[in-house]
Amino acid sequence: MGADELKTKIRDVPDFPEPGIVFKDIMPLLADPASLRDVTDVLAGWAEQRQPDVILGAEARGFILGAALAYKLGCGFVAARRPGKLPWKTVSATYALEYGENSLELHADAIASGARVLVHDDVLATGGTARAICDLAAQLGGEIVGVAFVIELGFLEGRKQLEGYDVHSLITY
Ligand code: AMP
Repeated sequence: MGADELKTKIRDVPDFPEPGIVFKDIMPLLADPASLRDVTDVLAGWAEQRQPDVILGAEARGFILGAALAYKLGCGFVAARRPGKLPWKTVSATYALEYGENSLELHADAIASGARVLVHDDVLATGGTARAICDLAAQLGGEIVGVAFVIELGFLEGRKQLEGYDVHSLITY
């Protein structure tokens, strides 16, 4: 399935969650069996070459394909979560979003020193989220071997935040 066909499974929702934002809704893609399998396989193919030990997914939509990737590649899965959700000791980062501000946390013991970490989220927008997660994982001693997205909003230039990282997205707008 090519990028053009996958695009037909992504729903544009204007003015969500705020006026002026066009939300890229991947739920129709996830709900379609062939698209779900295809996107997982293609992302896994890219990720596999980076030989990750762990997939690090961003709350919440990064958990879905992140866990599928981890299963497919035989990796562990680690969740970057919103403040107050993780029960044990955490490290935390706050960053600016396309809409508003956000913080994410990792368990302080989530990344083994020297672990090869592949970061995943559904959408690369301004890059703040992925950058914060990469910084947290690096702070814990992980090596970021790749950053993989389903969708990249190229006009927001999120890649600039991720300079020096190996960044991949399946669909660019
Ligand atoms: P950013 O930190 O600006 O790259 O934003 C990325 C995070 O916000 C990801 O977790 C996305 O799921 C979400 N996000 C930002 N903009 C959009 C958008 N236009 N459509 C869907 N999700 C978005």
